[in-house]
Amino acid sequence: MNNNYQATIGLEIHAQLKTGSKMFCACPNDPEETKPNVNICPTCTGHPGTLPVINYEAVHQLLRIGRALNGELADFTEFDRKHYFYPDIPKGYQISQDKYPLVLNARLKGVDIGRIHLEEDTARSVHNKGKESLVDFNRSGLPLMELVTRPVIKSGREAADFARELRLLLRYLGAGEADMEKGQMRVEANLSVSADENLGTKVEIKNLNSFKAVEKAVAYEIERHSRMLDQGEEIKQQTLGWNEQKQETVAQRMKEESNDYRYFPEPDLPPMKLSEVEEFSDEQLLASLPELPWQRRDRYLSWGIKEQTVEVLVSELMLGGFFDQVLKELDRPSEENKKVILSANYITSDLVGLMEEGGKEVPISAGNFADLIDMIYQEKLSSRGGKDVLAKMLEKDRGPEEIARQEGLLQSSDQGELQKLAVEVIKENPDPVKEYRAGKENSLKFLIGQAMKKSGGSANPQKMQELLKEELDK
Ligand SMILES: [Zn+2]
Repeated sequence: MNNNYQATIGLEIHAQLKTGSKMFCACPNDPEETKPNVNICPTCTGHPGTLPVINYEAVHQLLRIGRALNGELADFTEFDRKHYFYPDIPKGYQISQDKYPLVLNARLKGVDIGRIHLEEDTARSVHNKGKESLVDFNRSGLPLMELVTRPVIKSGREAADFARELRLLLRYLGAGEADMEKGQMRVEANLSVSADENLGTKVEIKNLNSFKAVEKAVAYEIERHSRMLDQGEEIKQQTLGWNEQKQETVAQRMKEESNDYRYFPEPDLPPMKLSEVEEFSDEQLLASLPELPWQRRDRYLSWGIKEQTVEVLVSELMLGGFFDQVLKELDRPSEENKKVILSANYITSDLVGLMEEGGKEVPISAGNFADLIDMIYQEKLSSRGGKDVLAKMLEKDRGPEEIARQEGLLQSSDQGELQKLAVEVIKENPDPVKEYRAGKENSLKFLIGQAMKKSGGSANPQKMQELLKEELDK
């Protein structure tokens, strides 16, 4: 296969925003509601004569997203009617933004974003095994952001990474859950492959319900186009979907699209001058941003934590938040990073392994966890003992010292105490000492065993061995 083929990919991503109410009416914004048609009113079901009202919270969320992505925020904006006919769009148009999107020219993960605008979500059609089609209007009118990247993405991996980072951003901002499996975030890819600087024939891939699907569908299409180009076949411009079972793209039957949406400004909504709203000022938007995913990532990496561990802490908000709390409780000089790394590793491996799947919060206090790390660091607990204590802590949140004492897991590394033990054991066991000095290595094991027994199992065995050897070699 010719390796000089270049793929050009652009993404169109829709994501539901988290707000109290819907985009243009007072109905609750609850994407988790499972009972159909309960969060509805005449406005979001498109009755004639109803009037939409702009939800400022949704505008605010979108502007925060734009600010976090270093975009150019609009000063003047308006909403437009986008016309098309479909059962899930009762008015015969969707209120969206055409000429004056709220955000232009942003950037995420090195990918240029052309625009981000605000619109209302459509209702949801439910097809009942060919018998009937029903429409659930709970989703109708939920605030939806649409983000369009420039065609600068080169691979499936890059496309999926972009979408993942966007989801993280929404979660950090509290602007949305962006759960792809639940349809809270929907990704479409436009893709073409070409051997030269001219763009190849474009296909559109829709219905990508997971990051894996994004990555695989794009990779699959790049491969397919390259193969067809090799064989001199003509690529058809079409809309495709992803078949998860077969792991291949399939042509989709599309509603007849004229692509003429006959946009015009929504006459029922006033245009907005954003600089007139104090909350939308650059200063206030910046002040409303928390630490962003990439900032947290850089902070952790600068401490020498392994990249893979950092990624777990950055992408699982609950774990990252817990880690930061633990750091505040840890007894550590600021330049000392060993405990930081130890904490990161214990959280992302041992703690995660012991926690219930899908748990909403870490069931132990950061203070107790920090004490545990301190004990392991000071070798009061072996790494095995540390795991046992942690397991007990998860049963009931108690201090690790108390548990270690009760379970007999405390380990002594006190030099003076252990040395005294070593001297005693040597005095009390003259025969094994003689044998060891004569070259019988096994006798050392016996002496270590005696010392451990004397300590009631609390001595650090490695330290004990070192000290015994030292004394015996004197
Ligand atoms: Zn409503």
